[in-house]
Amino acid sequence: MNDRYDVVIAGAGPAGAQCARDLAARGYDVVVLETEAEEEFPRQSNKSTAGTFHSMMAAFGIPDDVVMQYTDSVVLESPTEHYVRDQTGAVLEFADFKRYLVKDSRDRGAEYRFDARVTAPITENGEIVGVTYNGDEEVYGDITIDATGPSAPLAKKLDIVDLERENHAIGVEYEFEGIDIDRPGFADLRDAMMLRLDHEIAPGGYSWIFHTGADTAKVGLCYIQNDSHDQYSRDDFTIDDYLSHWLETDPRFRDAEPIEGKQHRGSAHIQAPDKLHTDRFMAIGDTVPSLDPLWGEGINKCMQSGRAAAATADSVLKHDGIEPTAENLEVYDTLWHRDVAPNAKSRLLMTQLLYLAPNDRYDRLMRDLQRLDDDTLAEANKGNVRAIANLIELEDAPLLARFAKQQLDLDLGSLLP
Ligand SMILES: Cc1cc2nc3c(=O)[nH]c(=O)nc-3n(C[C@H](O)[C@H](O)[C@H](O)COP(=O)(O)OP(=O)(O)OC[C@H]3O[C@@H](n4cnc5c(N)ncnc54)[C@H](O)[C@@H]3O)c2cc1C
Repeated sequence: MNDRYDVVIAGAGPAGAQCARDLAARGYDVVVLETEAEEEFPRQSNKSTAGTFHSMMAAFGIPDDVVMQYTDSVVLESPTEHYVRDQTGAVLEFADFKRYLVKDSRDRGAEYRFDARVTAPITENGEIVGVTYNGDEEVYGDITIDATGPSAPLAKKLDIVDLERENHAIGVEYEFEGIDIDRPGFADLRDAMMLRLDHEIAPGGYSWIFHTGADTAKVGLCYIQNDSHDQYSRDDFTIDDYLSHWLETDPRFRDAEPIEGKQHRGSAHIQAPDKLHTDRFMAIGDTVPSLDPLWGEGINKCMQSGRAAAATADSVLKHDGIEPTAENLEVYDTLWHRDVAPNAKSRLLMTQLLYLAPNDRYDRLMRDLQRLDDDTLAEANKGNVRAIANLIELEDAPLLARFAKQQLDLDLGSLLP
């Protein structure tokens, strides 16, 4: 087996597989090492609800046959109100989507090794030159990329990321049939992706119903173990208990039955990265992490980061005699901050503020969203401070004070030994 490549990628998720697709299309020798066995891929990594938008489908040429359901709207729900925004999207069958990315990158010339668990970087003179997998197997590359999601074995050992426990978001989801998808008193969720802000159901996070056709939907929730989670959580409740509680108390699920074998769970870190690369190495996707903190849109962001890393590798490798030093890979950071996650820090602050708000503020937020025009909302969603100011009211003073104190505690906390 070949043990030397232009690029070695750890992890065949959306980020790694897309990066391999782009590199193989440019004619580079690229190998992807994936820990799961090919026959059951993806199993544990089949974690995503996979709601996405046409921009992602078009930018990456994703075929219709991995789509479970096209959607026409995004609905935001609070305990007693809701807001509907017309926006077309698609709910993918995540497993089919992952397998498609592998097949398509193979068709373009990428090599895959399944059952290959990457454990550590191989370094020479302090620079990564390859990786160790399955204990004693080795493979070498001019550039190595960590795309293993939150496990990040290479990025952690190279001190590129420090994925912090307090920023760890966990999620669980089941697919159901028998859901009352257009129940009187609630928003019409036919052809919709719905996100619900309600600490009773997902303390310090949000829950969702993504319609997948007829009376079926993906139903799940996620949260970070933040201050709000501490404040609103119930003693001894696990994430599964919260989902059961929602299913038992929301009349839309009265006749719902779980579809066998359709459970997904996973995690991600909600934090802004300090570093993204070093000599001969880049970290992409949720390893960094790249997913949007506010609504958890990860697929598009992670694939964009894979594309930015592929373009960066190409810009170096196509020139004989130019080494992939940290300085020459710096363009990846520029592309990431400009195209993948612009305003990453302000979106993170918005996220922290949002999850800190109490349930009655969520009800008011839905009414505020209804009164504001689309342009202001689009700007607020991008993190524009002036547009966000339109959503803040005098009554928010206690919330803002609590938020300011939390930020101060965080800043002071970072000064403590
Ligand atoms: C419950 C849940 C719901 C979500 N819903 C949505 C949604 O609706 N829309 C959306 O856009 N995003 C959603 N996301 C986020 C999205 O799924 C992720 O952001 C995205 O999958 C990250 O892609 P990635 O390639 O960076 O990492 P991953 O998808 O985590 O892929 C990493 C790959 O690396 C492999 N791997 C791990 N460790 C090793 C190792 N040591 N060696 C080799 N291989 C390894 C894994 O098996 C996996 O195949 C959701 C996430 C969760 C958890």
